[in-house]
Amino acid sequence: AMSEEVDLNDCIRSALLIARNHIKDKAEVEQQLGELPRIACAPSQINQVLLNLLTNAAQAIDGRGLIRIRSWADDDGLYISVRDSGRGMPPEVMAKIFDPFFTTKPVGQGTGLGLSISYKIVQDHGGQIRVASEPGRGTRFLISLPHLRVAA
Ligand code: ADP
Ligand code: MG
Repeated sequence: AMSEEVDLNDCIRSALLIARNHIKDKAEVEQQLGELPRIACAPSQINQVLLNLLTNAAQAIDGRGLIRIRSWADDDGLYISVRDSGRGMPPEVMAKIFDPFFTTKPVGQGTGLGLSISYKIVQDHGGQIRVASEPGRGTRFLISLPHLRVAA
């Protein structure tokens, strides 16, 4: 599954397409996709990560807001950030968001598995997922992935 060379911008575009119906009532989406080298990864898994971040972002917005998704690369790796203008989260919530089954959503609306699975997927790719959040202002997730080549 890891043996494909993938343009992560294609993953972003396909996740946005899938999430579009869910997002469109909640937020404008701003895309700033930089030029990326292809990397070896499992596109369906990266898709799952991005879908969860986008869904979480939309669900964090009361009324209407903004979701900004950016990608860029440097010598160390590739980066995708997903930022929302939603309600943010306090430190005691942020401390638990990667725990399996942790959710603040009503019963039936959240499994609490999205971020724990996302964390594992990014880790399996040798990358990291980090979060910064300010209650009342919004949240930003940053995924970083190394320059993985397909093994010869
Ligand atoms: P779920 O979406 O099923 O609740 P997740 O693992 O995706 O499970 O997220 C866990 C919790 O992290 C959410 O219930 C929410 O409290 C918090 N969270 C995740 N993303 C955001 C975000 N963008 N803004 C505010 N809170 C968030
Ligand atoms: Mg979720």
